[in-house]
Amino acid sequence: MAGGGPAGFAAALAAGRAGANTLLIERSGRLGGMATNALVSPFLGMVNSQFVNDILQYLGGREVDPARLDIDYADLLVQENVQILLHTYAVRAIMDGDTVTGCTCYTNQGQLDLYAAVTIDATGDGIIAHSAGVPFEQGRPEDGLTQPVSIMFRIGGVGPSPLLCGSEGAAAALMLAKGSWEQIVEQGMRDGELPKNVGVIRTYATRRPSEVTVNATQVNYIDPTSAADLTKAEIEGRKQAYQVTEFLRKHAPGYKDCFISEMPAVIGVRETRRFLGCEYLTRSDLLEGRKRPDAVVQDALFVIDIHNPDGPGQSEGSAVECRPYDIPYGCLVPREIDGLLLAGRCISGSHDAHASYRVMTICLGIGAAAGAAGAIASAQGIAARLVSPEQIRKAIP
Ligand SMILES: Cc1cc2nc3c(=O)[nH]c(=O)nc-3n(C[C@H](O)[C@H](O)[C@H](O)COP(=O)(O)OP(=O)(O)OC[C@H]3O[C@@H](n4cnc5c(N)ncnc54)[C@H](O)[C@@H]3O)c2cc1C
Repeated sequence: MAGGGPAGFAAALAAGRAGANTLLIERSGRLGGMATNALVSPFLGMVNSQFVNDILQYLGGREVDPARLDIDYADLLVQENVQILLHTYAVRAIMDGDTVTGCTCYTNQGQLDLYAAVTIDATGDGIIAHSAGVPFEQGRPEDGLTQPVSIMFRIGGVGPSPLLCGSEGAAAALMLAKGSWEQIVEQGMRDGELPKNVGVIRTYATRRPSEVTVNATQVNYIDPTSAADLTKAEIEGRKQAYQVTEFLRKHAPGYKDCFISEMPAVIGVRETRRFLGCEYLTRSDLLEGRKRPDAVVQDALFVIDIHNPDGPGQSEGSAVECRPYDIPYGCLVPREIDGLLLAGRCISGSHDAHASYRVMTICLGIGAAAGAAGAIASAQGIAARLVSPEQIRKAIP
């Protein structure tokens, strides 16, 4: 299992609970993925899964505390005898013909070759799948541009009761003396007080008093698989965070004395490679709420939330409502390559569909399915692609 975000964590938990000998590797010093390293919160989206509900309940709800999410994840994994190896960077698949038999990693002590009956790629960018030659798509179909990357950060000194707290809807509804909050932000963009693509400032309550998480900065025209592009974005995004904070201090009720209390370790990446699997989730699957006999995630629900790849705001004006949809097992099974399963935001689906299933609650559900499938394949000595979706559903009720 590579990648300790929601998908990799849930995959390891499900595999460990099913009795599989499980190792979870993670390149950073912390489990949690975007939620710990990029301060992303809350856990959005829904799935019809007791397994996922139990995790969220253990974490104390959807608004998780990034300071301890990694420890909570580790406690749950240790209970299921999952081994954890942090500071371990997966670099490529080990192949036997068209079958992945493990992955080569680097640690500070050098190269480490790890072998497994089933390898699960939950690295977000699909580092193992990419090196194994699984075909992929990236970005929107017309020009390959991905959703922007963002520095999410936390500010303290907010209150006593900040009026501005919530998502786009809450911000749009807020009326102040100079106009609606939405209009004030648009004016700030036009006047150069805000970075040119910061068209929305979303602030979410955290578990700490007088503190909110800010989701506003965005750096466009970045290929998040390029280190050079990410370097540029890290620096620009962090500068934007200071500009947004200054704007809040000046214009937002309750934010006069606010200050940046926490910057993320890494910039938040919404979208990179989407690998082609035996099935492919589409926009119409989500809009019609398509149900599938081969579902391994049932009743997934979140809006199609495409942060504009080439401008401020949403690419379609606003997020698009969906109906509860199923994710079939084939979206986790790469075409033609055996021994490997996909989990999390890198599974098989279109740019639009990804903009819904990428949220963390749905990634927990996807990961759980991958982990259960891997455990069944390994116990039965069969190729992962041959595991029946029904068996997977039974393993993670
Ligand atoms: C700015 C922003 C705001 C968002 N807001 C929300 C929100 O409010 N609510 C919500 O639910 N979702 C939100 N999302 C989406 C969500 O955070 C991600 O889509 C989700 O975390 C994806 O889960 P994952 O497990 O696939 O990947 P990740 O969470 O990215 O985890 C991947 C893990 O793999 C590790 N890794 C990567 N490469 C390697 C390697 N080579 N070797 C070993 N380990 C590796 C990484 O360090 C990381 O820990 C947001 C995303 C962004 C960027």
